[in-house]
Amino acid sequence: MEIRGAAFAGTLILLWLVAVVAGCQRQDMPGPTVVETAAQPATTGPAWVDANRIGNADAEPQNWLAHGRTWSEQRYSPLTNINVSNIGELGLAWYFDLDTARGQQASPIVVDGVMYTTSAWSKVQVLDAATGQLTWQFDPEVPKEWDVKTCCGVQNRGAALWKGRVYVGTIDGRLIALDAETGDLVWEVQTTNRDEPYSITGAPRVFGDKVVIGNGGAEYGVRGYVTAYDTETGEQAWRFYIVPGDPAEGFENAAMAMAAETWTGEWWTHGGGGTAWDSFAYDADLDLLYIGTGNGSPWSRSERSPDGGDNLFLASIVAVRGETGEYVWHYQTVPGDTWDYTAVQHMILAELEIDGRERSVIMQAPKNGFFYVLDRQTGELLSAENFMPTNWATHIDLETGRPVEVQGARYDDTGSAMKITPGPGGAHNWHPMSYSPDTGLVYIPAQQEPFIYKLDENYQAQVIGMNLGINFWDPVAEINQLPPEWGPEYQGQLLAWNPVTQQEVWRVTQTTIENGGLLSTAGGLVFQGNSDEELVAYNDATGERLWSAPTQTAILAPPVTYSVDGEQYLVVVAGWGGIDALFMGPVTNPDGKKRNVSRVLAFKLGGDAELPALPERLAPPPPADDFGSDRQVQAGAAHYTRICAVCHGVGVISGGVLPDLRHSAFAADAAAWHSVVMEGALAERGMVSFAPIFSDEDAEAIRAFVVRQANLTAR
Ligand code: CA
Repeated sequence: MEIRGAAFAGTLILLWLVAVVAGCQRQDMPGPTVVETAAQPATTGPAWVDANRIGNADAEPQNWLAHGRTWSEQRYSPLTNINVSNIGELGLAWYFDLDTARGQQASPIVVDGVMYTTSAWSKVQVLDAATGQLTWQFDPEVPKEWDVKTCCGVQNRGAALWKGRVYVGTIDGRLIALDAETGDLVWEVQTTNRDEPYSITGAPRVFGDKVVIGNGGAEYGVRGYVTAYDTETGEQAWRFYIVPGDPAEGFENAAMAMAAETWTGEWWTHGGGGTAWDSFAYDADLDLLYIGTGNGSPWSRSERSPDGGDNLFLASIVAVRGETGEYVWHYQTVPGDTWDYTAVQHMILAELEIDGRERSVIMQAPKNGFFYVLDRQTGELLSAENFMPTNWATHIDLETGRPVEVQGARYDDTGSAMKITPGPGGAHNWHPMSYSPDTGLVYIPAQQEPFIYKLDENYQAQVIGMNLGINFWDPVAEINQLPPEWGPEYQGQLLAWNPVTQQEVWRVTQTTIENGGLLSTAGGLVFQGNSDEELVAYNDATGERLWSAPTQTAILAPPVTYSVDGEQYLVVVAGWGGIDALFMGPVTNPDGKKRNVSRVLAFKLGGDAELPALPERLAPPPPADDFGSDRQVQAGAAHYTRICAVCHGVGVISGGVLPDLRHSAFAADAAAWHSVVMEGALAERGMVSFAPIFSDEDAEAIRAFVVRQANLTAR
């Protein structure tokens, strides 16, 4: 295996880092660093994907040309070699071990027998799609301490291809263009201010010689936006802000002036949020780019916009002109969001016959539990029904387009704790859906994940850690005293949904939350990896389970399919991670057996490769002896739940990605604990010093709480 270009790229990164450090005091966004002003690229060659090819993707079903295969993002393949009749013969063809042990969420792209995929920490791998042999790989060398600026882990959801180049966003906010043949760096641009807690986990999209990328950070107090860059040069083409900034500085455009009418107080001091961290779709005929936008920052509206207001364009689908980034229309799923109900979830374009009329629609099943069908030319709401239980709103009023909220659901207005379904994990999160034009059904990786919301009346923006404006710790601290039995109300559900009638056709209930994204094929199949460490094929019409393969690790990412020399392959990037694998340990990892084994797995008919046996799990060392007064433990519980739980698990029950602190040698030793928590001894692994927000006394109180929990739950 050859790693071409890696050393060269590493040198360039080093030069770039010097440039960034030199320029880091600047508040403006630096222009692209072009490191190869070379000759014009050839018009054919590896990864030569252009508008003509993506627009005619069905003419080359062997390829998976873009994130959702086409700009419509349907995640449907016309391939039929693997089908309901022979699915039993599907076996492992090859696997490729990834060099990170964090969550994997990438959707590979496959063109002309070559696979382009990404892994945690924004790394790129290019593989022979028939054999899994590595052609080249690229590591953007993201500073590991960026981990604490991400709500949900250092995942990456994939690359984009255009005219011989590979584009990837990095967790520290860069957009990078690589030569598809060699892996050499062509250009890179810092898309964010490195002094602010922005991150990128989403896949770029490309159309019209522009590459677009959003960002994340609404949990940390940023202002979201989407930027388009020239694919050739990296020069900025346009930027669309999602929420308005400080009116005193003037609005960027008429859309921001309009949006500002729906905000109150001094929202800009909180960032506002709205970050577009995942989904886009593109209609080439209309030249409309659809942006799925995120939650408010902080979560509670009463903290960020104290006199109310819809807070545009939070939790919305916004259509902008692809060429210019100009606002065209928007539909807001949750006016005045206060529950982290993002609408960044997967959007699918399709042609549907509704009430006897052909409609060009855009469909979305955002976190809030309702399935929306909109006219994608005008933004008109055609229908909306709940696909999972919702107790924050009874229904969507089709006249006004607004949800009819349940009294008391706005916990920030009442001041009372409120158990709401769905919670911030969503009835459906980023895990991609799939639409099969054969069945006319949308397949949704849904889940039931309630959450107790309570306003943080002492909210203050903090230097490190989430800025949510809600009180995690009172309600959760009560739960912390209970054994880890959060009960059957947490479950995953694979749904087949008729978008015309807005009705469920079939449903499969799964063991737990956080199951993988979906693929449907003309072979009559729906594929999904899951939290039970298997890849499964279902009959697309009935939901009957037809086939499964053990994968040694849970799967979050969506499978894709392609063929090489007439042989069809099914591929998925496996590896446990994400917010429910960090925060929700009591639900997703109650027995402590989950593990991350990060790999690309490829299957074909008659495949007979085998995964190597995993090493035996060693019995973890017993917890340290209990210590600390109840008062100290209570103080530690509040600190832990406010800051530490998001990564190390609520109640100190690890979700299985990061170390289980209940068995940590550091927790048993005051000096070692201090070196990690206060001095950053493990900063290279992402565990930075928390000295900016904790005192020595706080850190020791947290240790007391961790050890108390260990003795309650892990003896
Ligand atoms: Ca969020």
